[in-house]
Amino acid sequence: KAKALGRNCFHSFDAGLSYEMRNKARLGDELRAAIGSSQICLHFQPLYTMPDNQIAACEALVRWNHPVRGMIPPDQFIGLAEENGLIHELGEWVLRAACREAVCWPPHVKVAVNVSPVQFRNSRFMAIVQSALMEAGLVPHRLEVEITENIFVQNSAVNRDILRQLADMGCSVVLDDFGTGYSALSYLRLFSFQKIKIDRSFVKELPEKSASGIIQAIVSLAQSMDIPTTAEGVETQEQWARLHAMGCSEAQGFLLGRPEPVAAIRERLGVRDVVMS
Ligand code: C2E
Ligand code: MG
Ligand code: MG
Ligand code: MG
Repeated sequence: KAKALGRNCFHSFDAGLSYEMRNKARLGDELRAAIGSSQICLHFQPLYTMPDNQIAACEALVRWNHPVRGMIPPDQFIGLAEENGLIHELGEWVLRAACREAVCWPPHVKVAVNVSPVQFRNSRFMAIVQSALMEAGLVPHRLEVEITENIFVQNSAVNRDILRQLADMGCSVVLDDFGTGYSALSYLRLFSFQKIKIDRSFVKELPEKSASGIIQAIVSLAQSMDIPTTAEGVETQEQWARLHAMGCSEAQGFLLGRPEPVAAIRERLGVRDVVMS
């Protein structure tokens, strides 16, 4: 009897697990088919200089419009793509599409692209970046590559080399979501970054005292190394004013502009008469 019960337990557990696994495998297959189709597209969110509110850059944020499930946010498929290896194909598509879009913008506006640590491990990564820029006809200094602190978890010699190559080419290397990962402050000295983005989780808590303290510390540290800072997730005028008072150089968030489709970002940038591609 005990044996039968054990078997039942095992079966129900197994069935639950395999449902989840099958679901994941199916979503993976659907993602593979979606890359390169109109289901996958980019939205762009502006980054504004402080305090004069000029658009310095727009960040490419990938969107998956699934025919049955609707809009799936990137947090729900980037991780999957990293697990099943599709991130290489997806990331390459994002990079090429973002560069192609940015050539239509005024030349002082840069394009920021999120790059997964998994993409860094691809030996072709630098070649892909170069080819994306060349193919689009975009000068390297208009590309900002956003990476997270997770990049430091492993193989720092290789990563350090790639970051240096990107900087040598003229691209900006930006440290995204700063303050949330495995960061040790020593990384800021070992690797050179052109910009640090302060994570939304701190900005959200403003004007709360400990969040203010952390943001002020990050901004001061960055300033001492001549690195500009962008505050993410700025939603209120009060947050904006405090960030400005603390010496932040750029702001990004719903207060200033949400991520929006290509047509809307072009209108925001005053781009006219460009044939939609
Ligand atoms: P991220 O790079 O930190 O991008 C900022 C996220 O914060 C975006 O979410 C954006 O919509 C959201 N956001 C911006 N301003 C505000 C605000 O004022 N309030 C709130 N509540 N949210 C705000 P999204 O588009 O859902 O992207 C989530 C994350 O997915 C990104 O975080 C990035 O890590 C990742 N991601 C997006 N696109 C790509 C991509 O093409 N490649 C890779 N590897 N990752 C991507
Ligand atoms: Mg980002
Ligand atoms: Mg971020
Ligand atoms: Mg984030």
